[in-house]
Amino acid sequence: MLPFKLVYHPKYDLNLGPHVFPSQKFRLIHHMLLQEEAAVASDFVEPAEATDEDLLRAHTEEWIQKLRAGNLTASEIMKLEVPYSPELATAVWLAAGGSILAGQLALRDGFGCNLGGGFHHAYANHGEGFCAINDVAVAIRRLQADRAIQKAMVVDADVHQGNGTAHIFHDDDSVFTISIHQLNNYPAYKPPSDVDLNLADHVEDDEYLETLLPVVKDSLDAFRPDIVFYVGGADPFCEDQLGGLWLSKNGLKERDKRVFEEVRRRGIPVATTLAGGYARNVEDTVRIHMNTIIAAKEVAEGKQLSKEATH
Ligand SMILES: [Zn+2]
Repeated sequence: MLPFKLVYHPKYDLNLGPHVFPSQKFRLIHHMLLQEEAAVASDFVEPAEATDEDLLRAHTEEWIQKLRAGNLTASEIMKLEVPYSPELATAVWLAAGGSILAGQLALRDGFGCNLGGGFHHAYANHGEGFCAINDVAVAIRRLQADRAIQKAMVVDADVHQGNGTAHIFHDDDSVFTISIHQLNNYPAYKPPSDVDLNLADHVEDDEYLETLLPVVKDSLDAFRPDIVFYVGGADPFCEDQLGGLWLSKNGLKERDKRVFEEVRRRGIPVATTLAGGYARNVEDTVRIHMNTIIAAKEVAEGKQLSKEATH
């Protein structure tokens, strides 16, 4: 049994059929975690859909109503880059509920892991790049409304810049956003995060970690958030179809683990979300996302702390 909960719902599947976004990955991650006995059935909890009140703290009423009714314009669907279906709407409502629940569980257990979400390209008033609802923004605003937290930090390690998150929180001093991403990649316009780490093409494990970790440490010490939302991202992987960084699977697990160590060492809770992953073989994407959970487990159990974390 894991020392924290995994938030998952069978309806996380975005119902995309053949599409570069492997929407079956959510189901496969759940299946493989059980099959490899990395988790047991009682480790999983099902979220409820986020309420309209929750969504409206991060999104406009017009956008929520369009998504609910399914009357997006052709240009809105083009920007979203996924076909609209009622299943897609259910999936993103659940993903937002899932990130709220992961945040609540993280405050209780130290970690809370949403096996979905990380839809960081969603803006307040429109969707982009496979992201309709910005689940992390919804979750942070809900925890703040409940007075469970005051300040949150977002560490976004997806290969693509977290434009929607950066835009939503641009004028919000209670949320500190860090995005590490490939500069020469989608989105073309990158609204500023509090810290943007713009990487050149083909950056590998060591340079990536040497860029990210000092900024995470310094930002944690300076900002002192009440919770960190981690947008994992499997797409900095060297065999990703939509990414141009050259991280290995081990490097990505090291990334997760080192970030978790820094956050947990300061006693700060971490809620994790999946975000993107478009490896040529979907098994690689699934493995990288599973490794995020295993990294959290190792850090939660205080095992195999890397050398730097021991002094
Ligand atoms: Zn991405």
